[in-house]
Amino acid sequence: MSDFLRKHAYLIIISLVLLSGGILLLARTSGGIQQLSGYTMGTTYHIQIVDMPTALSSEEIATDVSALLLALDIRIFSTYAADSELSRFNKQPLNQPFAASSELLAVLTLAREIAELSDGAFDVTVGGLVNLWGFGPSLQVPGDEFPQQREIDSLLQSVGYELLKIDQARAEITRGAEFYVDLSGIAKGYAVDQLAAYFDGLGVENYFLEIGGELKIKGEKPGAISWVPAIETPLDSTPQIYEVFSTNGAEIAVAGSGDYRNYFEVDGLRYSHEIDPRNGRPVSHSLAAVYVIDDSAARADALATAYMVLGLEAARELAQATAQAAYFIYTSDGVEFRDYVTPEFTDYLRTD
Ligand code: ADP
Ligand code: MG
Repeated sequence: MSDFLRKHAYLIIISLVLLSGGILLLARTSGGIQQLSGYTMGTTYHIQIVDMPTALSSEEIATDVSALLLALDIRIFSTYAADSELSRFNKQPLNQPFAASSELLAVLTLAREIAELSDGAFDVTVGGLVNLWGFGPSLQVPGDEFPQQREIDSLLQSVGYELLKIDQARAEITRGAEFYVDLSGIAKGYAVDQLAAYFDGLGVENYFLEIGGELKIKGEKPGAISWVPAIETPLDSTPQIYEVFSTNGAEIAVAGSGDYRNYFEVDGLRYSHEIDPRNGRPVSHSLAAVYVIDDSAARADALATAYMVLGLEAARELAQATAQAAYFIYTSDGVEFRDYVTPEFTDYLRTD
């Protein structure tokens, strides 16, 4: 096993043990909560429902949930499944319209919005470079075979969110260049939103939904106790709580992005899985993790990745200008963590 593979195997085990990426749920309640968990989109999911709907049994809910997630993953968004809708689109000849499902269309439309907002820092056409650096479906080994500048330059030529045409009226999408779309920075959040819509439709008022660290939280725990998610210290060791916050009954989505779990190291330099579309390289800066609160988990997910790519200064400016609830953890000396929290996020920090 190469160092790279060993690192990834280790990371996979870690994430299975952690059961989430960055957010931990504090004070698991034993009584009155129905829990459901499993695997999807290359990670785990955890669902907690307080008020069970009367219309369906827990078995029926479990069946619905796994069917919903399976469809979103294998049938639509997966780049691991050769026959998913996204994989088929990635093989579509240039300039030939491709009939897209409403789910793919919705995610690509939101991805474009965040791309425009972040001046291209979030760009789903960056997938070729994600793959080149070994973070895609095929396990390449950058530690053994480091990407050459000419390979980076060549792939960069076809990166550009504006080259992916979206025709809303016809529900068609078109590849305007030989890019490879990777939706890993937004699809988990979207799936969380879909789960939330499913439970909302059943009339469930209190839930905690999580896929790979992207969350949607509504209502309260039994006994009118607020859900208390915790932000994890951005280290790839045993999980430690960095900060807890409280939803106070609000319905919110939370997503995180960080450089501390999915990365590899060569010669002491850390290469994380967020790729900067401006230079085609893994981001490398003082920002260690970002957490975003929003109404939509898909939006929070994409924004967190966008901030991570932008780096502390530009991300902080953007979050301030757009009044986004965001929590940045950075390090100025590589040892001690510091944080910057926008006022909109401060509202959720616990005061007791
Ligand atoms: P996680 O998947 O751990 O939640 P993120 O939400 O930050 O982390 O998503 C990172 C993933 O997004 C990468 O693994 C890659 O597949 C994809 N990605 C990397 N760089 C970008 C980018 N600049 N824009 C959009 N997606 C990206
Ligand atoms: Mg993300």
